[in-house]
Amino acid sequence: MADETPRPEEVARIDYTPPGKKWMDPSVEFRKGTFCYSAAAKNLKYLDMPNPRDWQPFDKDWKLPPDWKNIILNGMKERLDKYRSFRLFMDICVRCGACADKCHFYIGSGDPKNMPVLRAELLRSIYRRYFTPAGKAFGKLAGGRELTEDVIKEWFYYFYQCTECRRCSVFCPYGIDQAEITMIGRELLNLIGCNINWVIEPDANCFRTGNHLGIQPHGFADSIEFAVDELEDMTGIRVEAPIMKKGAEILFVMPSADYFASPHYYTLLGYLMLFHEIGLDYTLSAFAGEGGNFGLFTSHEMMKRLNAKIYQEAKRLKVKWILGGECGHMWRVAHQYMDTLNGPADFLEVPKSPITGTRFDNARSTKMTHICEFTSDLIHNGKLKLDKSRNDHWNVTHHDPCNVARGMGLLEEPRYVINSVCNHFHEMPENTIREQTFCCGSGAGLGTDENLEMRMRGGLPRGNAVKYVKDKHGVNLLTTICAIDKATLPAVVDYWVGGVEVGGIHELVGNALVMKGEKERTTDLRGEPLKGKEEPADA
Ligand code: SF4
Ligand code: SF4
Repeated sequence: MADETPRPEEVARIDYTPPGKKWMDPSVEFRKGTFCYSAAAKNLKYLDMPNPRDWQPFDKDWKLPPDWKNIILNGMKERLDKYRSFRLFMDICVRCGACADKCHFYIGSGDPKNMPVLRAELLRSIYRRYFTPAGKAFGKLAGGRELTEDVIKEWFYYFYQCTECRRCSVFCPYGIDQAEITMIGRELLNLIGCNINWVIEPDANCFRTGNHLGIQPHGFADSIEFAVDELEDMTGIRVEAPIMKKGAEILFVMPSADYFASPHYYTLLGYLMLFHEIGLDYTLSAFAGEGGNFGLFTSHEMMKRLNAKIYQEAKRLKVKWILGGECGHMWRVAHQYMDTLNGPADFLEVPKSPITGTRFDNARSTKMTHICEFTSDLIHNGKLKLDKSRNDHWNVTHHDPCNVARGMGLLEEPRYVINSVCNHFHEMPENTIREQTFCCGSGAGLGTDENLEMRMRGGLPRGNAVKYVKDKHGVNLLTTICAIDKATLPAVVDYWVGGVEVGGIHELVGNALVMKGEKERTTDLRGEPLKGKEEPADA
């Protein structure tokens, strides 16, 4: 935690009094800790994106292109013509206010422009002024605003204070999807080179090497080899982890954090153990070594460019179908966009478990099945030998990632797996889980250190719910199936709660899985002693 980040007691004193200035006033103060730094010119150049230059949001002069206003208005027109949903969302809000208090950034900051209805209005007011007869004729009286440089700065501030989590849309009687509005807002900003580095650098890395972290194929292979060695030490079994094996039945795609970050890495160990134990004919690939897709936080075009590798690699390796690991935005893209962006994937088959024979008809279009669906099916059919007591040192609660829970409706399978591999599971309050889950506060590319205060503010509702189950049930592990969550929730729970670890579901599966021929297990995948196997205190 950065030294200058305000303490939790200070941040928790939230002032919900509306500010004196009118909402139409676009002026914004770029206060340290509440915004993200601009994208480095070298990354924009690499991606061939407009207006690469050195600048920062707190600069007076943003060095916009001379015709920036036309670029934005033309970009808006193009998108209004192209996306029916965008035009609909600009037209139909009745300002009922049902969404107003549902955003974690509003709850944690008290800033009315973080109310979803008002965040959308920042764009909608420009739509009204330039694209509706009433706005053209009556301007401000019809809710229209002039497009000025201050409006661009305001968009930047607030569209990068929305994690595209879609919680607000659950409560909107019209189903207005603020994430889609934010996506368009960011897309327009990209046209004039106003973007954040934490999104654009992963995009550039991904475009160059296939993964966000810029890991080269030999680095990928090294990491997997390291995991295989570690597993051998722990279990006495050398698992196979094939890389780029042509003709394998299944291509397994995971977020790069799983093989390069902690606590994600323990999830990777769990996958490798599981696949070995059931004798799965699968392959990993360095070229499809990233399921995550920061294009979702950039533009539809970038999302398509970065997603293309998955089907291409499946085709090159001649697999039958694709299995996907624990990731959030990978699944939003895979589930909602992939088959129209880069499909149809007619060269693949409808996923079918080679172990149980179950056909995953829900994936008949994408040809990609979620690891929690796959593992639930194995457990349901009695294909795994599991010792739940090996997770007895954990009191578990589960965070539904926004993109998996709301984005693809995967609600029961994670719980089924958790309850099958551990004895102590406790749900957080109902209005903070499943479809109503609260965002970690750092998704959609906002997980940077310079933005830490805003992240902690956005993480307050989630932190609060974790504290509730920690105080009530002694919860000490928060599971999640999203790589961004695994990277950002540790800071959130340390800040708001303390004493709670974060981990993946397949880490718990790996702990509980009894492998044929394994040596006696005394530790979990983190190397911590299992309950009852602790060394005596004086040893
Ligand atoms: S999508 Fe999420 S972050 Fe964005 S306004 Fe809605 S609730 Fe807030
Ligand atoms: S709930 Fe929907 S209709 Fe009501 S104010 Fe929010 S976005 Fe508008």
